[in-house]
Amino acid sequence: MRLILLGPPGAGKGTQAARLVEKFKIPQLSTGDMLRAAVKAGTPVGLQAKAVMDAGGLVSDEIVVGIISDRIEEKDAANGFILDGFPRTVAQAEALNALLARKHMELDAIVELKVDENALLSRIEKRAAETVAAGGTVRADDNPDAFKVRLEAYRVQTAPVSAYYASKGTLKTIDGMKPIDEVSKALDAVLAN
Ligand code: AMP
Repeated sequence: MRLILLGPPGAGKGTQAARLVEKFKIPQLSTGDMLRAAVKAGTPVGLQAKAVMDAGGLVSDEIVVGIISDRIEEKDAANGFILDGFPRTVAQAEALNALLARKHMELDAIVELKVDENALLSRIEKRAAETVAAGGTVRADDNPDAFKVRLEAYRVQTAPVSAYYASKGTLKTIDGMKPIDEVSKALDAVLAN
């Protein structure tokens, strides 16, 4: 199963991906997680990405396409993967097409979690509060200022990715406003088809 999960920040992509990891025994490839790990480790990519990420902007297509191209060739992705947070621009979607074709891989599904934008800020605030309650560290970009920039990046650069796949007839859309279990069921249903 090779799957893309699309949707704005706070849509629940990470939550749903974690469940699909268990179900299909395939890894969740989150470019956000990989970039945060690179920042933490102080790698050249991390050093380049940190300021943009903290402000809520998008890291260059070249960096994230390079990360994904390498990552999907790793052994644990041999039976498939879930892309979470990638592609985030039409250029990334086109680069993904090209690199999958080169590697003789095909996508099985592209699913968008549709959510009401007004609900997103409160979801992000909830995520930050839960992280604090669990003794964790809140993401540097989970604050209202950076969130505004992230949402704008989504509207301008990432929403066209859904339109791109829709125009190819490959996009499946589910209602991400429902309770987590119902979203999971809807996701299972579209993946079974
Ligand atoms: P996320 O964890 O998916 O919300 O990503 C956190 C941040 O990492 C984003 O706000 C971007 O700065 C950066 N990032 C993650 N994935 C991408 C991507 N595919 N393209 C560009 N920047 C990305």
